[in-house]
Amino acid sequence: MSYTRALRCRKCGQEYPVQPLGLCDFCLSPLEVSYDYKAMSMSREKLAQGPLTMWRYKDLLPVEGDVVDINTGFTPLVKADRLGRELGLKALYIKNDCLNPTYSFKDRPVSVAVTKAREFGFDTVACASTGNLAASVAAYAAKADMKAYVFVPADIEPGKLIGTAIYNPVLVKVEGSYDDVNRLCAGLAQRYHWGFININLRPYYAEGSKTLGYEVAEQLEWRAPDCVVAPAASGLLFTRIQKGLDELSMLGLIEPVNTHMYLNQAAGSSPIVNAFETGTLHVNPVEPNTIAKSIAIGNPADGYYALSVVRQSGGGACAVTDDEAIAGMKLLAQTEGIFAEVAGGVVIAGLKRLAASGTIKKNELTVAFITGAGPKTQETVSDIVQPFTIQSSLESFEEIVGARV
Ligand SMILES: *Cc1c(COP(=O)(O)O)cnc(C)c1O
Ligand SMILES: [Zn+2]
Repeated sequence: MSYTRALRCRKCGQEYPVQPLGLCDFCLSPLEVSYDYKAMSMSREKLAQGPLTMWRYKDLLPVEGDVVDINTGFTPLVKADRLGRELGLKALYIKNDCLNPTYSFKDRPVSVAVTKAREFGFDTVACASTGNLAASVAAYAAKADMKAYVFVPADIEPGKLIGTAIYNPVLVKVEGSYDDVNRLCAGLAQRYHWGFININLRPYYAEGSKTLGYEVAEQLEWRAPDCVVAPAASGLLFTRIQKGLDELSMLGLIEPVNTHMYLNQAAGSSPIVNAFETGTLHVNPVEPNTIAKSIAIGNPADGYYALSVVRQSGGGACAVTDDEAIAGMKLLAQTEGIFAEVAGGVVIAGLKRLAASGTIKKNELTVAFITGAGPKTQETVSDIVQPFTIQSSLESFEEIVGARV
């Protein structure tokens, strides 16, 4: 059964029945799903019996019946000893969310949103995407036998275009930035009776990312990390990692949470970090210019809430250059064998700075969230390919390669 109670406005508290609606009619603030937590009876043992996917936490998600799933979640939490040594951290873990069906964490929120779209009776889903969401929506729509319209900025990486088109959605490249795509889609959502995954279904979409918080706590044998390091675009993912941890503690499954939440962005698109550094809660939009395209949102819808999480948790925010991000991708691959996309490089570069400055301390149990896979943005590191070319003879090997052994 579902414990979903209503939609509730994050700002004015106005409540709405469960329906496809993203923003409060009165104050235009984001709506959030609210639950009847008191009616929940949950135990570690019961949760452990669930499927090895994000749906083991179904009771904490806003869905009613059968779910649309292609085996998303319960991704590895890897103890990163080599990377930790490199950065001077003794208890570092990587949550490797590259290992989802469409190779990014977006499969989590999308699994919830597409399930909800089907419940609401939509035959078509749609989204405004920086790249990864498009692939996930298209894949989930294929699985659910629904039509999909996906809108992406025209300068999207080729790997992401192919990785979306393969599922056969109606794929629309929009001349402009993600923020332009999003504005267009907000207009389309008024005109077409579609389930817009990150617009009118956004409150449900948002909830899927809580499973990252649940999984990490369960994988750490039911405790919250001391520090979380995660990327932010709209800021939604970041807020939901913390919400997941908080809910587990409210339900008595883990001790009270005292996790410092660190937010990372690329310097070329860092409106949330800028606000943190200026000491305001007002996030001023920027014009993005970075190769970390999946997190290039200049006007982040949940920026204010992400910033509040940073502040209230005693965490921090940090912006890194594109060069640092690329170095971060290489470092993660060459120490832990994990090939992340540029957003992952941003996280590792931010983590490196936080460790070097002593902000994150040596013995703190730290989890870095790697949210998307490297092959999608492989052109950004193509300089790494410097093979030897030889004839198929021993002599040639020894002459060209052997000399350097
Ligand atoms: C979408 C995305 C994010 C950020 O998500 P928000 O919830 O918008 O902050 C981070 N990493 C990757 C790889 C993404 O695709
Ligand atoms: Zn409101």
